[in-house]
Amino acid sequence: MSILPIVQTCDPVLRRNTKALSLEEIKSPFIQDLIIDMQDTLRAAPGVGLAAPQVGHSLSLVIIEDCEEYHANLTAKELQERERKAVPFHVLINPKLTPLSESKVEFYEGCLSIKGMVGIVPRYHKVKVECLNEFGEEVIINAEGWYARILQHEIDHLHGTLNIDRMFIKSFTTFDNYNEFWRNKDILEIRKIFS
Ligand code: ZN
Repeated sequence: MSILPIVQTCDPVLRRNTKALSLEEIKSPFIQDLIIDMQDTLRAAPGVGLAAPQVGHSLSLVIIEDCEEYHANLTAKELQERERKAVPFHVLINPKLTPLSESKVEFYEGCLSIKGMVGIVPRYHKVKVECLNEFGEEVIINAEGWYARILQHEIDHLHGTLNIDRMFIKSFTTFDNYNEFWRNKDILEIRKIFS
């Protein structure tokens, strides 16, 4: 068990396409130990998702966990708008994502590899993900709302894409300034201010 350093933006490992894992590799002590270390790292951060490149490994592996206690800082309105609900810990290996909606929703979003910064990122409202779990079993996930956002964010990491690549870049802000100036404004209002 150990907490791994989370690499920060511009580290080349965050920009590479990752390698798919074989069943044999998934069952190896290296990958099983890496999953446990990533879980410790995600909980210590804390965050709701972590991809292997963020801890320096160019492998097609993601973990996700959105605990109810993380929602304490959000208002009931914010939770409802974001369609954010608790998601139990789970592992996604070699995931393939398909959008299930044409429409995208916009919210401020952060990344553990771009510490202390957030910005408005459009994401599909509904997605399907086909992947393997930590036992090498096939899993299909249908998700919407904030969970769909987390999946898109983390799976992007496996293809060298960061949220800043998809961001309405004028909205890019420190988390402190987000809280001070932008948090209580409607996204459409913010779009208008910057237009
Ligand atoms: Zn991220």
